Amino acid sequence: MAKNILVTGGAGFVGSNVVRQLSVDGHNVIVVDNFQTSGSMQSSECARYAQVIACSVNEDLHWILRECSIDEIYHLACPASPLAYQDNEIQTFSTCIDGTRNVLELAASKGARVLMASTSEVYGNPPPEHHPQVESYNGNVNTMGPRACYDEGKRGAETLCYMYHQHQNVEVSVIRIFNTYGPGMRAGDGRVVPNFINQALAGDPITIYGDGKQTRSFCFVDDLVSGMIKVMNHETLQLGPINLGNPQNIEIQALAQRIIRLTGSDSKIVYKDLPVDDPVRRTPDISLAKQTLGWSPVIDLDEGLKRTIQYFER
Ligand code: NAD
Ligand code: UDP
Repeated sequence: MAKNILVTGGAGFVGSNVVRQLSVDGHNVIVVDNFQTSGSMQSSECARYAQVIACSVNEDLHWILRECSIDEIYHLACPASPLAYQDNEIQTFSTCIDGTRNVLELAASKGARVLMASTSEVYGNPPPEHHPQVESYNGNVNTMGPRACYDEGKRGAETLCYMYHQHQNVEVSVIRIFNTYGPGMRAGDGRVVPNFINQALAGDPITIYGDGKQTRSFCFVDDLVSGMIKVMNHETLQLGPINLGNPQNIEIQALAQRIIRLTGSDSKIVYKDLPVDDPVRRTPDISLAKQTLGWSPVIDLDEGLKRTIQYFER
């Protein structure tokens, strides 16, 4: 049955992919986005599939959406690239806290179910005994550093979900997304995959921060979107949190070499300073998602990178 679905941040990278899938599945999609980090391509793609309302989630959503019936809310509005979220730390923190509270208030009044996009950043910089990261690990986050606006903002947003679930009976699930990449990212986004691919395609130096031995695990966006929709439609899953990501782990220097190989580029590697509080290792334990949703990623890194390279070439 067609549902009325609100996607906050629907003009962004993950959002535009979610919006397209929900529309293809036959739902009526409304997007709320302030276009802070959306590219023009993503915004026009989003407008093909959804009714787009240009405003911030920090505004009075009750009033703005007073005439809309809403069954589900995918709450994604928030810059996700360190470059973007550190550009205005106070606004980022406010989007996480005030924006999420507005969304939960809206959900309470409309009787809508919410999926809140949290992040692996809530785990901070875990010591070796906490690899891979399980949902029960409470994290090691610096409250007073350049990543805090986002990390602590998302931790606060998770707490808001918990409180609205407890006290306002809002149906809500929190997903913790690990590094996701794919078509729909902006070239100037600042995250590692678009940076390396665009540097390689232009023949520019590939910028590795630090010694490149830090690891991440990269999930192709189609896999993430299928997991998100499974979470939203799960009959009994409430609150979570639940990790969604690809457990395949890779050092950043190996990622650079792989992208050089796949693009056939003659770019050289240059080393730059490692950003403050850059996590050393990041890998999801996805046992809970496998058991509860029967979900795990199906697109391997080479295949996902090839599709992303084709997207940026176009
Ligand atoms: P993105 O920056 O590409 O998209 C975010 C979208 O939200 C943009 O369209 C932006 O304009 C919009 N936005 C930002 N602040 C807003 C506000 N106050 N009101 C309305 N719209 C606002 O980021 P993304 O990669 O698509 O991430 C989407 C969500 O997933 C974010 O909540 C992010 O924290 C979470 N997440 C993503 C990743 C990832 O690897 N992509 C990892 C962890 C968590
Ligand atoms: N990184 C890099 N070069 C770049 C961009 C990022 O070496 O041009 C590194 C960054 O320091 C981090 C990793 O790649 O260790 C992933 O960075 P990203 O910004 O994609 O996401 P994060 O997981 O840090 O939020």
